[in-house]
Amino acid sequence: MSTFKIATGLHMNNKHTEQQKELLNFDRENIWHPYTSMSSPLPSYLVKSAQGVSITLATGEEIIDGMSSWWSVIHGYNHPVLNKALIEQSKDFSHVMFGGLTHEPAITLSQKLIKMTPKTLERVFICDSGSVAVEVAIKMAIQYWVSKDKKCKHKMLTVRNGYHGDTFAAMSVCDPVNGMHQIFEQVLFKNHFAPAPQVKFHQDWYADDQGEKEITALEAMFNEHHHELAAFIIEPIVQGTGGIRIYHPEYLKACHRLCKQYDVLFIADEIATGFGRTGKMFACEWANISPDIMCVGKALTGGYLSLAATLCSTDIANTISNGEAGCFMHGPTFMGNALACAVANASLDLLATNQWQQNVLTIEKYLQEHLSPLINHSRVQDVRILGAIGAVETKQPVNMAKIQKRFVELGVWIRPFGKLIYIMPPFITTRKQLKSLIVAIAAVLNEDECFML
Ligand SMILES: *Cc1c(COP(=O)(O)O)cnc(C)c1O
Repeated sequence: MSTFKIATGLHMNNKHTEQQKELLNFDRENIWHPYTSMSSPLPSYLVKSAQGVSITLATGEEIIDGMSSWWSVIHGYNHPVLNKALIEQSKDFSHVMFGGLTHEPAITLSQKLIKMTPKTLERVFICDSGSVAVEVAIKMAIQYWVSKDKKCKHKMLTVRNGYHGDTFAAMSVCDPVNGMHQIFEQVLFKNHFAPAPQVKFHQDWYADDQGEKEITALEAMFNEHHHELAAFIIEPIVQGTGGIRIYHPEYLKACHRLCKQYDVLFIADEIATGFGRTGKMFACEWANISPDIMCVGKALTGGYLSLAATLCSTDIANTISNGEAGCFMHGPTFMGNALACAVANASLDLLATNQWQQNVLTIEKYLQEHLSPLINHSRVQDVRILGAIGAVETKQPVNMAKIQKRFVELGVWIRPFGKLIYIMPPFITTRKQLKSLIVAIAAVLNEDECFML
């Protein structure tokens, strides 16, 4: 057993066993990791178990998770209620095809989603991952206009700095510079990109007519292209992977208004922001808007299994269904997977009964008090906070290999990219655990080697 203690910040000299070394060697040589080179990969850490807010590595070190495994583990790891839901469902059945068959876990989940999401959303497509949910949303929008005999309306309008997933239609609405547009240029759909929203969440929208100017620029795009626009897609309030940019609700309101005005469908990609992360159940609530189509994913199952959903209005569902094809043209093999739906139901029940909003608020307050002051550090460009999200933008990019190693040595799991050191911890994270995360961030900011490329 390890006697490693996080609080001391000491790095125990725990070594991998021969068997663990073999596993890691195989991993390094044969297995792709997200956005990682196979010829010169950064090291991956072998995980033994995870509990609450802690991940235990094979070497025995316990590290505090600041990432919620990419926005998803909102209730913490190894949660008894979620475990139970998974086990109980597996005793009945784990999966049946969704073509011609249906089941209570999927029906209950759809009822819950319809009830908790904005009022226009009444029809549910349950799919396997966030990217697929975005593909489904874009296909719905295009098929909607085809069914209305307006085939010319088949393009997307979005804003720069967005991220919507890694599949082709999703890629085609990711930021054209930071995204993957150069490599796949030949085959990507050509969509329209408005400037990224600039007025920040906590800024005064009316100061210097900044807000007004932004909307004028956006409206010009709608005005010029609406004849060919099927939909406008945006991450409400927080642009996540595209830079943790937190923008003003008035901007989101204006997007929604312009969509109505120019007869363009509004798609809200709530995959990162949904289920409480920003302090509201859905980030759309900050602007009091009700989208035509909405994608959810990531935290839907509390981080247990891959599951996502695309919700749409009755009008969209009926128009598609009454069109020439007579149905919506999509249907993945694992659609409505019962295990995933059962865990999602348990996770949503937890949200309905626990103190998530209070917890997120407490995290936000703590970040505001203790992460915000890092703005005074010479290496820091900006600090951004909303709900259970905190981001430190540095002036220079981080050295991934060095900084990752240091974070693990400091007893935390934080995975920066580019100039962003950011955390979105599980909602159950205590002040003491938050302190460890922030102390670690403050420490690496003082270490030159973490910023030398
Ligand atoms: C993560 C993410 C996606 C893609 O979800 P995957 O499950 O990784 O396919 C899409 N949109 C947003 C906003 C995301 O954060």
